[in-house]
Amino acid sequence: MRQLTYDGVPIPGLNDLVRTAIRLHPAPGEPRPDESHLGGPLHWPSDEPWPECPVTWPPDPDASDDAWKSGHPLDGSVPVMVSAAQLFRDDFPELHFPEGADVLQILFCPLEHDSPHHQGPAVRLVWRDSGEVGDIADPPPAPEGAEAGFLPRPCVFEPCSIDELPRLCDFPAETRAALGIPEGAGDDPDGWPELGQYSKIGGWTAWAANDRADLGCRECGADLRQTIALATEEHEVGCGCEVTEDGPAGWSFGAQGVLNVFTCPADVTHPFKVRID
Ligand SMILES: [Zn+2]
Ligand SMILES: [Zn+2]
Repeated sequence: MRQLTYDGVPIPGLNDLVRTAIRLHPAPGEPRPDESHLGGPLHWPSDEPWPECPVTWPPDPDASDDAWKSGHPLDGSVPVMVSAAQLFRDDFPELHFPEGADVLQILFCPLEHDSPHHQGPAVRLVWRDSGEVGDIADPPPAPEGAEAGFLPRPCVFEPCSIDELPRLCDFPAETRAALGIPEGAGDDPDGWPELGQYSKIGGWTAWAANDRADLGCRECGADLRQTIALATEEHEVGCGCEVTEDGPAGWSFGAQGVLNVFTCPADVTHPFKVRID
C-alpha cells in the first residue's frame, strides 16, 4: 500500500485502518426465498406475523432508531414492510451474526419518514435461524402510498472483496492528534483514495453528502460501526469487477445516495442506526 501523507507527514498505522468490505454487486435476477438477495422473497415463516413499520406516532424513543419528528400515515394505520435484502451467513460469514442466527433480513417501511437525522424508509433488521422456518409466508402487497424509490427490484449478488481506507474525518482521535490534524478538519488531502458509493457489507462510510456523525449505541454506549450499505447506484471504484447496470435494484435514497446501517460491535442485536448519505 502506498504511503499516504497529510500536509507532507506520513500517516502512521495506516494498515491498521484498512477494512475489507464485501461489495455486493447486485445484478438483476430471480432469487428464491432461501437465497441471498436484494428485494426478493424472504425466508419468512407463514406462522409469524408479517412485520409492520416500527415508527410510531407519537414517537416511542425505545421502539425506533431515532427520535422521529413526524409520523405516518395520518389516518393512524400501521403500514406493512417490504423486503429490502436478505443475507445468509453461508454467503457472507463476514457479517457478525448473533448466536443461533444464520440469516439477516432487512425490511423497509417504504413510506417517507422524517427525523432530525434521517429522511427515508424506516428499517427493521431481523436476525433469524433459517432452520426453524417451515412454510414460507406469502408477502402482503406494498402499503398504499409506498414510494417507488424505496421498492427494490429483485437482484442476486456477485460479491467480491475490496480493501477500504477511511475518509480523513473517520480517523481515530489519536491518529488525528499525532498528525496535528485539526478537530473538525474533514477535507481529504489531494491524492486521497476515493471511497466509492456502492452496496456492501462492512468497510467505511463514504460520508459523501453529509458530515461525519458520531453514532453511539443506545444500549451500551459503544461506537456503532458501518455494517450494511445499500446504494442507489453502483459506482465502479477499485475492485475491477464489471458493473452491468448503474442501479440494478432501482431504489433511490436521498440525492442518489446510500442508505447506511450502523450496528453495535458488542452486540448486533442492540439498537442500530440508519443514515442516508
Ligand atoms: Zn413507516
Ligand atoms: Zn451496544
